[in-house]
Amino acid sequence: KSIGYKNFPMVPRVVFGKGSFDQLGDILLPKRRNAEAPVIFLIDEVFERGDLIARVPLMFNDKIIFVSAEEEPKTQQVDALVDLIREEYSELPSGIVGIGGGTLLDLSKAVALMLTNKGSAHQYQGWDLIEKPGVYHVGIPTISGTGAEVSRTAVLLGPNRKLGINSDFTPFDQVILDPDLTKGVPKDQWFYTGMDCFIHCVESLNGTYLNAFSQSYGEKAFDLCKEVFLGDLTEEESRDKLMMASWHGGMSIAYSQVGVAHALSYGLSYVLGVKHGIGNCLVFRHLEEYYPAGVEMFNSMMNKHRISLPTGLCKSLSETEMDTMISVSLSMKPLWENALGKDWNSKVGPEHLRRIFQQI
Ligand code: NAD
Ligand code: ZN
Repeated sequence: KSIGYKNFPMVPRVVFGKGSFDQLGDILLPKRRNAEAPVIFLIDEVFERGDLIARVPLMFNDKIIFVSAEEEPKTQQVDALVDLIREEYSELPSGIVGIGGGTLLDLSKAVALMLTNKGSAHQYQGWDLIEKPGVYHVGIPTISGTGAEVSRTAVLLGPNRKLGINSDFTPFDQVILDPDLTKGVPKDQWFYTGMDCFIHCVESLNGTYLNAFSQSYGEKAFDLCKEVFLGDLTEEESRDKLMMASWHGGMSIAYSQVGVAHALSYGLSYVLGVKHGIGNCLVFRHLEEYYPAGVEMFNSMMNKHRISLPTGLCKSLSETEMDTMISVSLSMKPLWENALGKDWNSKVGPEHLRRIFQQI
């Protein structure tokens, strides 16, 4: 049976521009079914104090729920939020609005889906397991790089594994790209999440799955990253361009796949709880054998922005932990296949990965 080409869903509506957050009220109005069907705003708790909250267009019995992004989102957390919403309201919400980074965006997508699909979120980790469209959901990124605002997945830590809910119903119905919302991002975090985008491009552009669709988005995102991290843009230009780089980077991997850095970063994150952005950076700088030009450019970006990464993370791992890290990484088959080709199995093995992890 031939697999055929992916029929990929895209975000149908997007607003871009400084201050566009203030259009949210108008955008939601026609989506409000009645006064009993609220809009639920899931907002990164860094905004709890600050002037953004006064601009959230609350009506009727809407609710704001603040969520910490300290840890990556979990299936149990999704289930708990869904229970809370079901208990408090007799009607299904008119909409879910996620405001924050990849953590809040993925959480919001998953909550919107689980309000209409039975059972627990972990049952849907995988590909195309979701049966019904979710509640109308809006994504508003406040940090740029992951591409979670365009992607067809909501990555969650489940009881057994870290895996996305990948489905045609996962992408947002509406995205608002307001670069001003990224103003308060701390420098190190700006770099780590921005490098997630840069690494998406390097992995997509150097992969065997590459095709003209992915390449056109990947090259654009790559050039934008170069301008942002190595050029001399004004802060405003830099915010605008990184937001668009994230979008294009996400579109690029939609039609291809990530590679070695993400495979290793998944292992690191699974065993040590290292977050996605910094995890990718920690891994990527040791991958010159796979991505020589990308790693060289990454090092220039680190130097230019005086970023220093922690070292010695894997020093005190037990044998078992190291083995888990290696097997989680090697289990990411499509990523390896994209990076090294169909016979990837003959090109990389546990001892090889052990040597890389030992340097981290
Ligand atoms: P994040 O959402 O984890 O946030 C990182 C930190 O930045 C947090 O401390 C957060 O509070 C803070 N922050 C965010 N916006 C801020 C602002 N405007 N001002 C001040 N602080 C701010 O970061 P991320 O790197 O965007 O997301 C990582 C998550 O994204 C991971 O869980 C990863 O699995 C997921 N991810 C998803 C996809 C996808 O396609 N769905 C792709 C890549 C990564
Ligand atoms: Zn990534």
